[in-house]
Amino acid sequence: MSAFKDIPVDVGVIYEGQRIRRNDMHLELGGPSIKEKFELAVVKTPEQIEDGKITIVGPDLKDMEAGKSYPLGMFIEVAGPQLEPELEGVIERRIHAYSNFIEGFMHLNQRYDIWLRLSKKSFQKGLTSLNYIGKVLNILFKSELPIIKKMQITFITDKEKVKELYDKAMQIYETRDARARGLKDEEVDKFYGCALCQSFAPTHVCVITPQRYSNCGAISWFDCRAAASIDPKGPVFAIERGELIDQTKGEYVGVNEAVKKKSLGEITKVSLYTAFGHPHTSCGCFEGVAFFIPEVDGFGIVHRGYKDVTVNGLAFSTLADSTAGGRQIDGFHGISIEYMRSPRFLQADGGWNRVVWIPKEVKERVKNFIPADLVNKIATEENAKTIDELRAFLKEQNHPVVASWKEAAVVEATVPAEASEETAGVPVITASTLPLTAGGFKIILKDAKIYARKVIIRSAKDEKSEKR
Ligand code: SF4
Repeated sequence: MSAFKDIPVDVGVIYEGQRIRRNDMHLELGGPSIKEKFELAVVKTPEQIEDGKITIVGPDLKDMEAGKSYPLGMFIEVAGPQLEPELEGVIERRIHAYSNFIEGFMHLNQRYDIWLRLSKKSFQKGLTSLNYIGKVLNILFKSELPIIKKMQITFITDKEKVKELYDKAMQIYETRDARARGLKDEEVDKFYGCALCQSFAPTHVCVITPQRYSNCGAISWFDCRAAASIDPKGPVFAIERGELIDQTKGEYVGVNEAVKKKSLGEITKVSLYTAFGHPHTSCGCFEGVAFFIPEVDGFGIVHRGYKDVTVNGLAFSTLADSTAGGRQIDGFHGISIEYMRSPRFLQADGGWNRVVWIPKEVKERVKNFIPADLVNKIATEENAKTIDELRAFLKEQNHPVVASWKEAAVVEATVPAEASEETAGVPVITASTLPLTAGGFKIILKDAKIYARKVIIRSAKDEKSEKR
């Protein structure tokens, strides 16, 4: 593309979905080891913007040490007669898509969770300044969203400055999210879909309703409405809600049809307010994961920024691997923080009554939306680090899940060794897509049914007393 003749690397849609592994990375900006990072788009008046201006506050790419991680704040200011604040979230989310058009420049996640990597190869080709990134973004934004008439970009890599602006950015996100609260799903005829993450998860479609925020937490129903009206052929599209099939689970005829079409027939049914059966798919950009803990019949929740292992011994990255990829996995559910503030949050599974463990940091953020009588009954890492500790805590606090625990159950079901599929009874696991990891390989079983000769279900309590 001649518009990019001054850019030392190639720019194009073919690089969407690119991954840069640590061995191939020159350096990274943001990411899990950097606490403060953000990207923010703000609508301004034309007089406030010097079109095309790119400012770098702090060290540029060429001044940074290879192999290291650096803080980054990206501030995009736009102006245009049709631009309104409702579009800020949508413009901001496009940073992800357009950055990924740049050869050897990977962008993951959103808002305060961004993680960017520059490849060794692209750095060697001359991609040594954020100025080039700014130029590409400026061109792509204006050509893809012509309602943007003026744009200036500031990259902040100075650690102290990023820290200072991070808190302001967090306040702006919170104000935006709060703006979208109050409207109920049954009060609108249209929901919205977003297929922006299909470059990473080809069967994933986010269904965004007033009460089910996007998985990435970056786009509300109002943002989608604005986006679909200015760019009807873009990744955000309207979904006619259609007839209600199941109110508790949140299943609608129109949603099923739209998702089937956009996932190329892979996903045919979606229930919006549950993590079981046909849950909403998860791409990879989710802010957190709700993971079912069968030992206590409840959900744990972990956010991307949580560094330690969770109460079931698995880290966010492992749980995210089991959840992502545009699949519907029972009990592994990608969610946004804002969805946790919704009255529809996991409604069909018991909502907050079913949540048993959550990092303290997230609990603080959503505390005002947890029913008051439950707040102290939900454990954090300070109350429970293992399943045994969790069980004890829940019992002591008389958490609602405790009522569902069966007493001293030991069930053994034996199937003859020579049993065929027909005689083997009920399969132990059935799944339309079952991902496994073994010996360094990722194996995906489609339409899997796994049979066992013997099934032993034993309560953790019994196991403990047996060992004594
Ligand atoms: S997570 Fe969903 S809403 Fe957010 S960008 Fe991806 S597809 Fe769109």
